[in-house]
Amino acid sequence: MKKLELIHVKKTFYTELGALNVIDDISFDINEGEIVAIVGPSGAGKSTLLNIISKLILPTSGKIIVDGDIGYMFQHDHLFNWRTVYKNILIGLEIKKDKDRKKVERIKKLLTKYGLFEFINNYPQELSGGMRQRIALIRTLATEPSILLLDEPFSALDYQTRINVSNDIYQIIKDQNVSALLVTHDISEAISMADRVLVLSHRPAKLKEVIVINDLEGKTPLEKRKSTKFSYYFDKIWGLLNE
Ligand code: ADP
Ligand code: MG
Repeated sequence: MKKLELIHVKKTFYTELGALNVIDDISFDINEGEIVAIVGPSGAGKSTLLNIISKLILPTSGKIIVDGDIGYMFQHDHLFNWRTVYKNILIGLEIKKDKDRKKVERIKKLLTKYGLFEFINNYPQELSGGMRQRIALIRTLATEPSILLLDEPFSALDYQTRINVSNDIYQIIKDQNVSALLVTHDISEAISMADRVLVLSHRPAKLKEVIVINDLEGKTPLEKRKSTKFSYYFDKIWGLLNE
């Protein structure tokens, strides 16, 4: 079942400097439970694409069909420093006036399962970058979105943390059976986390190629990175990005 569908999406920004074509006719879809990664040069229009999908901005033309709610997670965790972890996580439900016992119980279960429950009364600045990012994900999941948009969610983390956190976040996404669209400029991250990788061209972004990742040995991103087939995908995507 399709969770997200983009049909001939185009975007032009009109500024005092003139028209800037950013997205040139992009179509793709995401199935239930699938993780799709987008890689592309910086300034290609990747964040613009996520902003269009989340309805923060309108496309110039084309259509976006979303089945269910969207959760959006950014590069910076946007946790509020004056609220405890617990109160940060509940903020989405409070805004939507949707905080019932069942939802709160589900959140507590998520926090326990992912080793965060003992920190619920801490403030975000007392925690590591990796923990903050996992908390930001659980906050995003609190409103039960059916599709997650992740815009370079690990790029503020140091290399080692980033690999560990991407492993954890992959696990959470797969356990919770949500679909995800992950924007990253890290080719290895895309290959190790995604079922498919969409390679974008320079601006205006076109869909250059779709690479299906289906034969890496291993269940987790960490294991997949060690798979013999990994470097085949890496070379292929590297080549496409450097054409
Ligand atoms: P990426 O995320 O791939 O690095 P962005 O989607 O952020 O790229 O930006 C793509 C291009 O669109 C950039 O050249 C950027 O300056 C431009 N852009 C983004 N938002 C706006 C806007 N609101 N108005 C005008 N230009 C914009
Ligand atoms: Mg961006």
